[in-house]
Amino acid sequence: MTKLSPGYQFPAQGEAERPVFSYEEIADRLPVAVYICDKEGHITFYNKAAAGLWGHEPRLQKDRWCGAWKLYGADGVTPLPPDQCPMAVMLRGAKAVGEMEVLIERPDGTRRYLLASPSPLFDPEGNLAGGVDTLQDITAQKENEKQEATLAAIVESAEDAIVSKTLEGVVTSWNRGAEKLFGYTAAEMIGQSITRLIPADRLDEEPAILEQLKKGARVEHFETKRLTKNGNLLDISLTISPVLNSKGTVIGASKIARDISGDKRLREALREREERLRMASESAKLGTWEYQPMEGKLDWSDECRRIYGVSDGMKVDFTFFTDRIFSEDKDRVLEEIGRAMGRDGEGNYDLQFRICRYSDKQVRWIRSQGKVYFNEQQQPERFIGTVLDITEQKKQEQELKDSVELFQTMADNAPAMIWMSGSDKFNDYFNKTWLEFTGRTLAEESRDGWLGGVYPDDVQLCTDTYGQALQSQEGFYLEYRLRHHSGEYRWISDNCVPRFSAQGEFLGFISACIDIDDQKRAREKILDSELLLKTISNVAPVGLWMTDTTGMNTFANETWIEWTGLPLEEQLGSGWLAKVLEEDKVNAPALFREAMLKREKYTTEFRILRQDGDIRWCLTEGSPFYDINGVFAGYAGSVTDITDIKKLEQRKDDFIKMASHELKTPITSIKGYVQLLMNIYEEVSADKLQAAKGTVKSSLGTIAKQVNKLTRLISELLDLSRIESGKLELDKTSFDPVSLVEEAVQDARHTTSRHAILIHSDYEGKVYADRDRIAQVLLNLLTNAIKYSPDAGQIDVSLKGDKKNVTISVADPGIGIEKKEQQKIFDRFYRVEGKNEQTYPGFGIGLFIASEIIQRHNGTISVKSDKGKGSVFTFTLPVA
Ligand code: ADP
Repeated sequence: MTKLSPGYQFPAQGEAERPVFSYEEIADRLPVAVYICDKEGHITFYNKAAAGLWGHEPRLQKDRWCGAWKLYGADGVTPLPPDQCPMAVMLRGAKAVGEMEVLIERPDGTRRYLLASPSPLFDPEGNLAGGVDTLQDITAQKENEKQEATLAAIVESAEDAIVSKTLEGVVTSWNRGAEKLFGYTAAEMIGQSITRLIPADRLDEEPAILEQLKKGARVEHFETKRLTKNGNLLDISLTISPVLNSKGTVIGASKIARDISGDKRLREALREREERLRMASESAKLGTWEYQPMEGKLDWSDECRRIYGVSDGMKVDFTFFTDRIFSEDKDRVLEEIGRAMGRDGEGNYDLQFRICRYSDKQVRWIRSQGKVYFNEQQQPERFIGTVLDITEQKKQEQELKDSVELFQTMADNAPAMIWMSGSDKFNDYFNKTWLEFTGRTLAEESRDGWLGGVYPDDVQLCTDTYGQALQSQEGFYLEYRLRHHSGEYRWISDNCVPRFSAQGEFLGFISACIDIDDQKRAREKILDSELLLKTISNVAPVGLWMTDTTGMNTFANETWIEWTGLPLEEQLGSGWLAKVLEEDKVNAPALFREAMLKREKYTTEFRILRQDGDIRWCLTEGSPFYDINGVFAGYAGSVTDITDIKKLEQRKDDFIKMASHELKTPITSIKGYVQLLMNIYEEVSADKLQAAKGTVKSSLGTIAKQVNKLTRLISELLDLSRIESGKLELDKTSFDPVSLVEEAVQDARHTTSRHAILIHSDYEGKVYADRDRIAQVLLNLLTNAIKYSPDAGQIDVSLKGDKKNVTISVADPGIGIEKKEQQKIFDRFYRVEGKNEQTYPGFGIGLFIASEIIQRHNGTISVKSDKGKGSVFTFTLPVA
């Protein structure tokens, strides 16, 4: 209950005029809000209307200046502290401040605009006693003003033409949109008839519209045509509303006209585009759908229905759709749809999931893409999207994935090191075997990281080869050294082939690499040993050959090639026979074939015509050989030049023949003479014995001569066997060689009466040698000199010496020896063949023994000779 302040008295009025009801009552009944403050501003009185305005009752004597709960300035925004309210302002100035607008907020949150008019109250002495304020609620007026201002602004700024007119069709307002659309200014149109805008053929539209308006009905989106100021016809859409007065009577019309010429064109274009899109979608087997969540409406295109296996007429809704989702994918899909439709979602959605096709219950993979459109309240209004059956694509993807996995498993378990590159030159795949070999990771090897593991000297080769291959898109084979995880570089072979797609597009390379280090080293060893064998085979003094399994020659060494003078290619097959003498050409191969059939060792002799024209005897020996599996692979054999052996044998035969003859002759002669002497002894009487003395003497002489001859022959044979068995021993002493020469010459002189033997010597000194053996050598040379100088003459024996050697030579004027024979005469059994030479008796062992003896003394023996002129035999002995 409002109470007047006890300390305050209304200005005195005449007693008689005192009213019968209290001032409080009067004040409470006032339709105007009023309240009073003392000079400090404490509220001392307020009426009901004031409390109603404030929305609560202030505390008397406590609350100051204003009873409102919250105060704002006239702008409705700036908070106004109570000491700034109109009452406070007025009290501070102690004079009326006129009307002031404030906004108050009541405890229930409602707001009111107030017009405050505070004025001061004075006591009888004229001092300020307080103030009275009347509050006028101007909220409705304020709201109206605001609305009108907004409306006017809207109308003015609207793009649409907004026009109002009377029921008679006279224009009363014309906004800027109308000016723009029709070309007339407001001044030109206000007060004019609206029919100015209506084309002649549509004049009858206006009465119909007016008729409808009069009934209070609205005309909405009426599409028609109107004329502009410059005579253009416009497609417009009209919305016309009746304007009512306060009593609800229709007094005019307000209409909004919108130019839809552009819209119409746009709509047509849109329709066309939609049609095109539909066709494109269909040809791409792209289904489209639209879901309006608020209406719960789901539309599926024909293609979409086909994908889901749903017939044309069948009704579909969101539940039907969710029922089609494959159970395992359902949660994921619904969650994603929820996300897209949620406010924080972007509204976009792209998912791959499985559906259970309605028609045949087949599980199909689909890709669904969509976009959510929100209304102004941020609620999902339309959800539009496409759907594509991607089962085949998925299947292919899976197949590809499977085949890639299969490849990887295979590649990783392959014993070869495999790498693969793309068309961009970089290697991006290395299998497990490779990575285990290098001990590095895929990331480390990838791109050109692998080059880091290549032996520095081989890097250039690798990059060059690879670069070239990339250009030509051709494979290559390369051997290089790669670092093994142990740190050691190992040789690997890189067998690289290009990869092409089914369309022939170059995709890069794939290569299998093999650790060939052991192999390579073994190969090097083989090469080494091959070289060694080749060298040996070529320098060997024997011919070497090989055949294939059919007996055809496949190999001949350099020695054989040199002998025959035929290059290797002419030796192959049976070419080697070319230089075999006609007499042996049949036999040797026949024997070979026979042996080969039995896989037996093959030995035969044949003669060849050597490159230098010599006919040589060859001994060939061959054996079958087998490959590592034990399979017969051919024959391998050698050819030895046995000409010398053959000749030696021949000479041995000759020697035996001759020796037996030589032995038989003296023995027969000895036997004859011994018989003769026996007969003389038995038959001849003592007196006749004297007469037989001469015969006896000559017979004994002959016997002695023959026995000497035999003795010499036997001792030569003994020497020969001693030499051959290595048992020729020397008994060395120091002696004067000159006396030895003299003795030997003396002995020789006894054997010839036709030769003069002279000694030439200025030597003084000794030699250390086996005196008897040197004597034997000297005697042998002297005997030969006499024997081979049938025409007699002088034989010179010279003896020379220096600090190192003593040189003794025997020169004869005999038959001489041909150059090519000169070395051979020191061989065992060697005798110069020739008509003349054969007439001289001998065994061909004298010079052999002499040369052996001299060699054992570390001396030398040689001959100088001119055929038919004579020979000089010289030997040296080291000085003791
Ligand atoms: P032989 O008993 O045949 O003489 P040698 O060994 O003494 O055997 O001599 C070997 C061969 O050397 C002889 O057969 C002969 O042809 C040749 N010869 C040796 N000495 C002479 C020489 N002084 N003059 C010519 N030919 C000789």
